[in-house]
Amino acid sequence: MTADQPSLTLLRSKVRDVPDFPTPGILFKDITPLLSDHLTMDAALSLLAEAVKDLTFDVIAAPEARGFILAAPLARHFGVGLALIRKPGKLPAATLSHTYSLEYGNDTLEVHADSFEGMDSPRVLIVDDVLATGGTAAASAELIKSAGGVPVGLAVLIELVALNGRKIVPDVAVRSVLSY
Ligand code: AMP
Repeated sequence: MTADQPSLTLLRSKVRDVPDFPTPGILFKDITPLLSDHLTMDAALSLLAEAVKDLTFDVIAAPEARGFILAAPLARHFGVGLALIRKPGKLPAATLSHTYSLEYGNDTLEVHADSFEGMDSPRVLIVDDVLATGGTAAASAELIKSAGGVPVGLAVLIELVALNGRKIVPDVAVRSVLSY
């Protein structure tokens, strides 16, 4: 099934562009209007589920914070567990950590070392709200590998196509609902 145009147009109308946030020059794609309407939130989740239904995965992993919002209902929908990828110092038990470079400086993400305990090389779907440069997705993929998983897919609601984030996650099937 391809997503029908009215639902995509509706979703697009609920993504708010906020110029110069969080820093000058960034056009922030704000999904809070979409989340505040249960019909558009439901449509977004249905379209994300549809976009990944041909992928086989055993568990979902999501970077904080907006990734969590979309990933938790998707994990429930597909009957799989959810691993949280967080900023340093947020996860309470033993973590694995990955530092990656940004345009200016570095950033670090962490995952619980036992995220996939009891699973043998689980196939992992990464879920986030926006794919921009791909740095977050690539770091998430590295953490998943360190924890013993195999990153197989990346599902995002919004892909900023001009930034070509896909190119730094070459071995992962990328699915997006809205492209800008
Ligand atoms: P990146 O690592 O550059 O692909 O950025 C992806 C992460 O940063 C996602 O977790 C997004 O939530 C956030 N992000 C990056 N750029 C934007 C943007 N223009 N609008 C909203 N969120 C963004």
